[in-house]
Amino acid sequence: MAKILVVDDAEFLRVRITKMLTSDGHNVVEADNGVNAISQYTSETPDVVLMDITMPEMDGLTAVKEICTKDPQAQIIMLTALGQESIVLDAIKSGAKDFIVKPFEPDRVLGAINKLLN
Ligand SMILES: [Mg+2]
Repeated sequence: MAKILVVDDAEFLRVRITKMLTSDGHNVVEADNGVNAISQYTSETPDVVLMDITMPEMDGLTAVKEICTKDPQAQIIMLTALGQESIVLDAIKSGAKDFIVKPFEPDRVLGAINKLLN
């Protein structure tokens, strides 16, 4: 069991992912933008972060850069859409470990998380 921080401005997606992760035995905390992601990361110290890219207040790329600067061991998986390849590449260079393209299958999400946890 791990603690996962789910960051996405779309509430329906957070609900869906949270359901998926809790039924697999994980603890979940949520954030709806990059600013809240950084404060949740600091206070909750999650094992893995699922990070959306396009969000209000602060986007996921900026949040990844800040989190990875503060914690080079951060385990972040980007949640991306088609057409965001260059942003994903930038996120990987900045320290993100993996990415998942929306719409995604539960197995792909759980597989990516388990790969980072092992
Ligand atoms: Mg979004």
